[in-house]
Amino acid sequence: MAPPAPSVQEATIHSNYGEKYADVNWDELGFSLTPTDYMFEMKCFQGEEFSQGNLIPYGKIELSPAAAILNYGQGLFEGLKAYRREDGHIVLFRPEQNAMRMKMGAERMCMPSPSVEQFIDAVKQTVLANKRWVPPPGKGSLYIRPLLMGSGSILGVAPAPEYTFLVYTSPVGNYYKGIGTPINLIVEDKLHRATPGGAGGVKTIANYSPVLQALTQAKSKGFSDVLFLDAKTGQNIEEVSACNIFIVKDKIISTPATLGTILPGVTRKSIIDIALDFGFQVEERVIPVEELMDADEVFCTGTAVVVNPVGSVTYQGIRVEYKTGVEAVSQKLCAMLTGIQTGRIEDNMGWTVEID
Ligand SMILES: *Cc1c(COP(=O)(O)O)cnc(C)c1O
Repeated sequence: MAPPAPSVQEATIHSNYGEKYADVNWDELGFSLTPTDYMFEMKCFQGEEFSQGNLIPYGKIELSPAAAILNYGQGLFEGLKAYRREDGHIVLFRPEQNAMRMKMGAERMCMPSPSVEQFIDAVKQTVLANKRWVPPPGKGSLYIRPLLMGSGSILGVAPAPEYTFLVYTSPVGNYYKGIGTPINLIVEDKLHRATPGGAGGVKTIANYSPVLQALTQAKSKGFSDVLFLDAKTGQNIEEVSACNIFIVKDKIISTPATLGTILPGVTRKSIIDIALDFGFQVEERVIPVEELMDADEVFCTGTAVVVNPVGSVTYQGIRVEYKTGVEAVSQKLCAMLTGIQTGRIEDNMGWTVEID
């Protein structure tokens, strides 16, 4: 009898290990999963602290059917990117921000969390172990996905007795069609993403399936994504399913304030700082949907989407179009952000962390 064929993943590790680049068509990268060689795993019991984790081959994990994450959604994720600069060094962008956000989210979800140092160290180890999957400069980035979950079994609704922190990666290109390609949004006026007192302000896994109905409906009608309104009044814009939103009117840049129902994006925060540095007036406040419809320019921010111009918004059957292209404010902000991330522009903000 023939020996069992090695799994695809083992075969890749053995055939290509040590080569500078993995066998990937770097020009065709989108935002889909390309499994890499290793992932990081660290476990701890409730009431204890995470102490020691390690790299293991990327692959399936074992969970009890009664795991808290499967039954009650006790889980959080993060998302950040590693870039290969022109000079060959690999950098992370503000990883401590993701680490701190995971800590805040863990508190909300009654989970122990890795310390900021443990989080950054795990991310570094995972990226370095998967170095050959970091795209060449200008071809994309290595998306890093830390996960924190209640992995222990529990039958009644309560915090899990055991927790697992995992980090895996995937090389990615653009989230939407092409970088700089304007997206078309539809404002959702019935379904909501988050409520006051809920968990919209943390990156819990439980926030994403509830947007799928609106998202798939929007996509079937040809829209790129959905813009949600606040649940209390239904009058004010909040955010898109996985990115934050900004409007520009008469050179003033505004974005909804993060008061618990909006995910405080690292890209959002960075773009605010870049805009202030450029001398723009930036306002974090309540933004009625009417102001969105009257804006000169609209754009979205997020680790996955970076800075994406919005070409049009449709609300209750009315479609408005916005300024996009090289003259747009978002272009200028995007160029500065990506310049810093990729090393083309000197990082005076101290945002990039060289890891090799
Ligand atoms: C992750 C996420 C963002 C963007 O956050 P970044 O830190 O910039 O990646 C915005 N909104 C939602 C709902 C998100 O999940």
